[in-house]
Amino acid sequence: MKAEIIAVGTELLLGQVVNTNATFLSEELADLGIEVYYHTVVGDNPQRLESILEEAQERSDLIVLCGGLGPTDDDLTKDTVAAHIHHTLIQDEQALARLHEFFAFSKNKMTENNLRQTLMIEGGLAVQNPTGLAVGTLITEQGTTYLLLPGPPNELKPMFQQYARPLLEELFPQEEQLISRVLRFYGIGESQLVTELKELIDTQTNPTIAPYAKPNEVTLRLTAKSGDEKVGQQLLDSLEASVMALVGEYFYGYGDENSLAKVTVKELKKHKKTITAAESLTAGLFQSTLGDVPGVSDVFKGGFVTYSAETKAAFLGIDRSLLEKEGTVSEACAIAMAEQSRIAADADFGVSFTGVAGPDELENQPAGTVWIGLAEKGKPTIAFLQHFNRDRRSIRQSAVMKGLSLILQ
Ligand code: ATP
Ligand code: MG
Repeated sequence: MKAEIIAVGTELLLGQVVNTNATFLSEELADLGIEVYYHTVVGDNPQRLESILEEAQERSDLIVLCGGLGPTDDDLTKDTVAAHIHHTLIQDEQALARLHEFFAFSKNKMTENNLRQTLMIEGGLAVQNPTGLAVGTLITEQGTTYLLLPGPPNELKPMFQQYARPLLEELFPQEEQLISRVLRFYGIGESQLVTELKELIDTQTNPTIAPYAKPNEVTLRLTAKSGDEKVGQQLLDSLEASVMALVGEYFYGYGDENSLAKVTVKELKKHKKTITAAESLTAGLFQSTLGDVPGVSDVFKGGFVTYSAETKAAFLGIDRSLLEKEGTVSEACAIAMAEQSRIAADADFGVSFTGVAGPDELENQPAGTVWIGLAEKGKPTIAFLQHFNRDRRSIRQSAVMKGLSLILQ
């Protein structure tokens, strides 16, 4: 079973867009036990796409194409694939109905070329698009299966997961399933995690352990191979127990999508607690990170961005003399910010960030010096001094992650 991925789009070749679709699709296909042998990127050019299709058809059982399903003239993927396999394009009624609904709702004017997005390849199965207008197609011709998906990742992902994946599972059943589980860790670097788990990693063959470092956190993917889902899960359970025995103190959650922010929000919800923040060097990044989590309004009350000494005094009522005496990059300032914000917003938790994002130093303190305050109703407020040793962006991100982790402790 050989598969390949063809991403279509001149913007990819120009370096304006990163080919994240290929990464996503490769992971998904690997998960289905389908091996991907090639990634190709081609511009919006029908001749060059056709020549790649000719090669791909010779060597692959499954060809996944992404991009070029849109309404504009440079969106030629459907026409080119249809011509390649000598099929025509037909209207997909469900996609057409959605298109009309969409324009009726948005009051925008529908143009003729929008109709192109509702075309699929005749003889294939429509792959519906829950977050956009372009319909995809899955079609098999002369032993090769073609899957056409649009370019925008927020459309491609749900289309693949909800519609294409079950169809592929049916088309290409695997005797042995790959079952995986992702464990997430915070507060330990990849190299330390791998060192702690060295023996386990070296001796494990089924399931396998694959570490992956993300900014400020590490994930471990445990993958078991088995003909029986239940047996696979048992293999994972026992490996997970061995992993936890060694590094369990850094574990905070499961799953690819379960970020530290999501877990924090879930925890707050579970305990019916609310949160606010006062941010200096992070300038709202902590609150924005919380805001990315669906359903955060149950726990997030709003908060403060107090970048200057003036706004720290004006918005939070912090004593100017304290700021002058202790400095803004100080334990006292972090504590006052956390406490005052918590009181002002009437929240259970107040988190504060004050420090030096860099690259220059501030108040004689080097870039990366950050105080993070934590005020909790009914408890003494505390502040933690951190030294993050990188660029401005990472320093601010690291501070946010540390702030989130404090809530989980
Ligand atoms: P649309 O209906 O939006 O035109 P489309 O299927 O025609 O969809 P493209 O025009 O190829 O898709 O791409 C639309 C946008 O999707 C691109 O500008 C880019 O931001 C994103 N995109 C396209 N291909 C990829 C890719 N391989 N990886 C990540 N993002 C991509
Ligand atoms: Mg397009």
